[in-house]
Amino acid sequence: MQNTHSPQHPTLLSAGTVVVDQIETLLVDLPTIRPHKLSVATMNGQTLMLVRVRCSDGTVGIGEGTTIGGLAYGAESPEGMKLAIDTYFAPQIRGADANRVSALMARLGKTIRDNRFAKCAVETALFDALGQRKGLPVSELLGGRLRERLPVAWTLASGDTGRDIEEAQRMLETRRHQIFKLKIGLKPVRDDVAHVAAVKKALGDKASVRVDVNMAWSELDAHRGLAGLVDAGCELAEQPVASAEVLARLKGRYPIAIMADESLTGPASAFTLARAAGADVFAIKTEQSGGLQAAQQVAAIADAAGIGLYGGTMLEGGVGTIASAHAFSTFRELQWGTELFGSLLLTEDILTTPLEYKDFHLTVPAAPGLGVTLDEDRIQHFRRDRPRISVGAAA
Ligand SMILES: [Mg+2]
Repeated sequence: MQNTHSPQHPTLLSAGTVVVDQIETLLVDLPTIRPHKLSVATMNGQTLMLVRVRCSDGTVGIGEGTTIGGLAYGAESPEGMKLAIDTYFAPQIRGADANRVSALMARLGKTIRDNRFAKCAVETALFDALGQRKGLPVSELLGGRLRERLPVAWTLASGDTGRDIEEAQRMLETRRHQIFKLKIGLKPVRDDVAHVAAVKKALGDKASVRVDVNMAWSELDAHRGLAGLVDAGCELAEQPVASAEVLARLKGRYPIAIMADESLTGPASAFTLARAAGADVFAIKTEQSGGLQAAQQVAAIADAAGIGLYGGTMLEGGVGTIASAHAFSTFRELQWGTELFGSLLLTEDILTTPLEYKDFHLTVPAAPGLGVTLDEDRIQHFRRDRPRISVGAAA
C-alpha cells in the first residue's frame, strides 16, 4: 500500500537534512538475579525489545521496550512491540527528518493507536540519536534537568519475609537503597500485613517501607489492609485496587499515601484521575505514558493537581532505565523518588559501562544522547534469534 503522506516524499525534505535510514529491532532474553514475585506474575527473566535507529549522518540511537511478566501487565508484549515496529512504525520512520522527533511522533500518533510501549522505545531511540548529533544529553533536549542524581527504591519480592529483610539490610549497608517497596497481594490480607510489619520492624527508621498490591485487593480487602499497613508503619500503598473510582474512595481515608500506577496510561488517564482526586501520588512510567514527552505531560498534570510524583519502572534494562532517568530528571517535583532499579534485577549487563548506583542514588549521565553504549558481544550472545549450535543432533 502506498502512503501518499510518506515522509520519504522528497519535497518535505530540504537538502542536507539528516534522515532516518534504518530501524532495527531485536529481542534480548536475560535472567533475573532471583525470582521476582508479583501478584500478577513471577518473573524469572526479562525480555528487552531493543530498537536501533540508524541515521544518514552515521548516528545510531537506541531505545528499549519491556513489560512485566509478558502479557501479565498489559496489552503489549516485547514480541508484539517488535512486530508493530517492524511492520507499522518502520515504514513511516524511514526517510523522515531525524531532527524533528516531536513531528515524527505526532505523525505516528495519528496512524498508530495506543502501542504506548513501542512508541516510547522509538521516541527514545530518536532522542538518543538527536542528542548525539547535537552534543546534548536527552534530558537537555527535554527542556533541561533539575537534578543530576535520582533517589532509587528497591523492590523486595522474594516471597519470603526473612530473605526480604536480609536483602534490605544488605542494601542499607552497601548504601544502595533506603526506600523499599514490598510486593504484596498474593497472600491473604492479614498475612501480607504481617509480612510488611515484620520488615518495617526489622529495618526501623533507617528505611522507608511501601507496598505495591498490583490491583489484587477488593475494596473491602483494601479497607482492612490499609488500616493494618498504617499500624505497621508503611507510608505508601501503590494501586491497592484496580478501579480508579475505588482508589478515589480510599484516598484520604487512612494516613497513608495512595499511589496510582496501573490506572495511569498516559496524559488523558492522568487528567481523569486528577479530576477525580483519585491519588495522592502518581507512579509515572515512561512506557505506560507513551514516551518521554508524554511522561512529562503526566508530570505537569500531577503538579497542577497537587499530586506527588514517583518515577516508576517497567523493569527496564539499562537503556530503558536511563531513558526514564533523563525524563524524570526534568520533573519539577519528584517528592517520592524513583524505582529505577530494573537493570540491577538482571544478572547480565548489556551496557559497556554499567549505570552508576551509589549513595542511594542513580546518576543521570552527562554525555550526549542517553549517555550509554550497548555491549555488542553481550547483545549477540543473549539475542533470542542467535544462531544455536546443536550438539548430538546426528542420529
Ligand atoms: Mg506498580
